[in-house]
Amino acid sequence: MPKRSDLEQKALQFIVNNGYDGVLQSELWRKLGASSREGSRVAIKLEGKGLIRREKELCSGRWTYRLYPKRFPASIDLIADCPCLMCADNARCSSWATISPQNCEKLTKWLLRIAEEENGALGDS
Ligand code: SF4
Repeated sequence: MPKRSDLEQKALQFIVNNGYDGVLQSELWRKLGASSREGSRVAIKLEGKGLIRREKELCSGRWTYRLYPKRFPASIDLIADCPCLMCADNARCSSWATISPQNCEKLTKWLLRIAEEENGALGDS
């Protein structure tokens, strides 16, 4: 049987890799070769650390939990289309200047689009 800390790390990695779809607790333990008892303990521990959330789900007539990551690792893809990267005003833009992120329409639109996509993805799960 793997050590619990190893199991926690592997479980968290698997849950994060499944993204917004989440993963059934029973499926996860099967993949990791853990018992359901050990798996439940690990899931509760990960939830207690604020790393995942568990949602009760009826699957094939039995209640189980679907596990979702609370956070995803940062990715360069997330900012690849940030308007600041190609902005002609970038060198003159700062919080204390006339051209500022605080009043930038391009940046605000981009942030709102990301927020909408994020909310849509969370709504799908
Ligand atoms: S905040 Fe706006 S003005 Fe400033 S660099 Fe980004 S896109 Fe350009």
